[in-house]
Amino acid sequence: MTTSHALRLPSGPVDLSTLPTDATPGFDGDKEEGEQALLEMGAELAELQERLFAERTTGSSRNVLLVLQGMDTSGKGGVLRHTVGLVDPQGVRITSFKAPTEEEKRHDFLWRIRAALPGPGYIGVFDRSHYEDVLVVRVHGLAEPAEIERRYDAINAFEAELVESGSTLVKCMLHISAAEQKERLLARLDDPTKYWKFNPRDVDERAQWPAYRTAYETALERTSTAAAPWHVIPSDKKWFRNLAVGGLLLEALRGLDLRWPEADFDVAEQQRRLADEAPVG
Ligand code: AMP
Ligand code: MG
Repeated sequence: MTTSHALRLPSGPVDLSTLPTDATPGFDGDKEEGEQALLEMGAELAELQERLFAERTTGSSRNVLLVLQGMDTSGKGGVLRHTVGLVDPQGVRITSFKAPTEEEKRHDFLWRIRAALPGPGYIGVFDRSHYEDVLVVRVHGLAEPAEIERRYDAINAFEAELVESGSTLVKCMLHISAAEQKERLLARLDDPTKYWKFNPRDVDERAQWPAYRTAYETALERTSTAAAPWHVIPSDKKWFRNLAVGGLLLEALRGLDLRWPEADFDVAEQQRRLADEAPVG
């Protein structure tokens, strides 16, 4: 299994061009073995998710928040389907953040984020996140530089507060190369069943690749904290991306040492009641 150790962003200045997009750190199998390894992880992921959900009945406030960031076509949706899809959807809260609405724009950038946080026992997944407010917003100058500057520390304080209140954050940047993005965009144009996924604006955004890279580097560098570290996932190989995020999620859940709640009733007494009942139905 890949581990956070192999994927965690080292502290210090970040240069994304030195971080691989097509490697498979911590895993030496091929695609078929990687897909198999992910499926095998599924049973444990599903059980631990259920334990987390069960724990809420004991008054625990613990939850997990998976943050997915990455350029267009980096595979946030693929991770949702293949990795998050391994657990019971009833225990998962997925939020896909789009450009803010008029109402959202009237509030602080964290307002809509707070509203989407997972409750006790849930695995929350952010498909894009508050990080867009220092990424696309920075690249397109959608806020004043001073406001963007303020946001890095605001994000760190916000995430520290979440961790303090019982959240485990798993932050993943899905790292693809510009060449891989081009192939994926072209593949969408080759296949009529994928036209709906194609947005001509993605080609405009692609032209801003260097500006996005700088914005990502700054964001990663300034918001990778001990409480909420960043992981950079080589994502040119879809199977590795799915496996790596699965491994991180599994590690986070294992780290919670989740126990099934004790019965808060007398089990033997309830068994007796059912055994002794008068005919029903
Ligand atoms: P998609 O993920 O393809 O559905 O696209 C969602 C779009 O919403 C992307 O172009 C994001 O850059 C944009 N978006 C998400 N959050 C923000 C934000 N806070 N400010 C501006 N645009 C955003
Ligand atoms: Mg898109």
